[in-house]
Amino acid sequence: MLNRVLNIIHSCTSCSLAEVWFEEDGTDVYLNLNRVATEEDLEQDHYLEYEGQIIEVVRIQVAFCPYCGQKLANGKDVVVPEFHHHNFGGRK
Ligand SMILES: [Zn+2]
Repeated sequence: MLNRVLNIIHSCTSCSLAEVWFEEDGTDVYLNLNRVATEEDLEQDHYLEYEGQIIEVVRIQVAFCPYCGQKLANGKDVVVPEFHHHNFGGRK
C-alpha cells in the first residue's frame, strides 16, 4: 500500500482500507491521508500519469484516531488544529 512509511504508530481496520497513516513529530501526532488517482481521474486530468498516483495529501494534527478512537498523542493536553494540503494533480 505505502512505500514511504517510516514509522507506523497506529493501524486499524479503517486505516487499512485507504492510504492513511499516522506520524509522530516530537509530541505531535499527524494523520496523513492520500487521495490516489482512479481511472476516471486519469480521463479528466491529463496531468496525471497512472492509476494509483498520489493526487492530494492532507496532513492534520490529531490526538486520537478519528476512525477507531484510540488515543495517539500521549500526555498531550492541547492539540492545535492545523493542516497541510498538497495538490499534485493538474486541476486546482
Ligand atoms: Zn484507528
